[in-house]
Amino acid sequence: MELFAVPDLPEIRAGDDLAALIDERVAFEDGDVLCVASTVVSKAEGRTFDLADFEAGERAERLAAHRAEVTGEERDPRFAQAIIEESEELVLEAPFVLAVTKFGHITVNAGIDRSNVPGGDLLLLPEDPSASAARLSERLGVPVVVTDTSGRPFRYGQRGVAVGWAGMPASRDWRGETDRDGRELGVTVQSVVDELAGAANLVAGEGDGGTPAVVVRGWAFGDHGGSENLFRDEADDVVRAALREWEFD
Ligand code: GDP
Ligand code: MN
Ligand code: MN
Ligand code: MN
Repeated sequence: MELFAVPDLPEIRAGDDLAALIDERVAFEDGDVLCVASTVVSKAEGRTFDLADFEAGERAERLAAHRAEVTGEERDPRFAQAIIEESEELVLEAPFVLAVTKFGHITVNAGIDRSNVPGGDLLLLPEDPSASAARLSERLGVPVVVTDTSGRPFRYGQRGVAVGWAGMPASRDWRGETDRDGRELGVTVQSVVDELAGAANLVAGEGDGGTPAVVVRGWAFGDHGGSENLFRDEADDVVRAALREWEFD
């Protein structure tokens, strides 16, 4: 398996044809998977905003004040408003805002990004990253994973995760297969889109590298059972339930 960055992509602007920009620069081969940073998908889709585009409501004012009280850091209530508008639910308000996005991904600040965003204060995640992935996949003829850098509970550091995907299942089901002892695997469903996103994110980097699109070559999903589920259903999510009950004071 080999990963390489798509070379020489320009700064992406609203309305850019990202599929064409990538297609011009890569000779895709059968079996390739394209991983692309949500940052450039969002830019192309015009998801760049200014703080001034958001008018803070009462809840946003309260949220910003609560966070400031807990952390001692001021937060612009308009940023809180942007998070609220992007979210289905806020699981946690302080010391950081953990939000369920409208497409089901749970992440800090609803994934609103303030790095690599020239000309705007805020870059929102794509409205529906799997739909974005499907449009790119259709044009490029390969599976596409839209990635974002995200923190993890229990561990320091951030890593790439999949926020959208198309053209391949989210997970590879190992249940019913056997380990080296012949013991049947009972629970393992491997979230392959996250693992590809993690590997691609390593190549993409986080700074000014200018390499948001990464081709994975020589990896195959193979003839296995798969699943489209990546974001836990509410009923299965004990961590979400526990955090809802928790109050920081
Ligand atoms: P995120 O993980 O989706 O939030 O994206 P990052 O902000 O971490 O950026 C990932 C990679 O894409 C880095 O190498 C950035 O330099 C690069 N990048 C971000 N925006 C652009 C862009 O508009 N054009 C190009 N060529 N690279 C970009
Ligand atoms: Mn960023
Ligand atoms: Mn991001
Ligand atoms: Mn990143």
